[in-house]
Amino acid sequence: MPAWPTRRPDRSHRRARRHGRGRSSHRPSRPPLWHSRPATRPGSLVPSRRDGTLWRVSLTDRDDLHDEILLRLEAKGRRFTSNHRLVIDVLADAGRPLTIPEILPRTPQVPQSSVYRTLTVLEEAGAVSRLTMGSNHAHFELSEQLGHHHHHLVCRACGSIVDIDLDPEIEQAVEAELNRSALIHGLRIDEHSIDAFGYCAHCS
Ligand SMILES: [Zn+2]
Ligand SMILES: [Zn+2]
Repeated sequence: MPAWPTRRPDRSHRRARRHGRGRSSHRPSRPPLWHSRPATRPGSLVPSRRDGTLWRVSLTDRDDLHDEILLRLEAKGRRFTSNHRLVIDVLADAGRPLTIPEILPRTPQVPQSSVYRTLTVLEEAGAVSRLTMGSNHAHFELSEQLGHHHHHLVCRACGSIVDIDLDPEIEQAVEAELNRSALIHGLRIDEHSIDAFGYCAHCS
């Protein structure tokens, strides 16, 4: 009989053990300054960042998404207004980053100045991310803090940005390699971003 297991343990088990060990042995006495604490509630779908895991759980249910954003706005002393909800739904429905010229026709009932202000408030609350690469117009999308970790393909000519998901196995490998390098430099990673640049089919 072999003295070692004949079957590799499944990956989820290994991940769980690794994260469990990381929590017990690597937790600093104080979180690094770049850690921002998310709004949480009992049963929140957004996982804690403290164990170093990324945002894996998507807020796919629209009510959960609204609830999470409401909490984030309240934490900033803001109310969740109908304008906030409208802009969030436009970004969630688009499934790709949008520029303000793309957002405005989708929110005809909201004055243009309110759209700008709403995006700024949502960005400050960590609900919306502003992407500044690619073109003169900034793109806006739901923040990765709300659950959907992904990467971008950016056209250098027209500035279009497309969201892409990497294979989970590759994502794990990238994460492990980044963590390995970061540990050498004393950085505890709580997120990463990898974007690819080139020329789209229309521009090449
Ligand atoms: Zn292009
Ligand atoms: Zn994106």
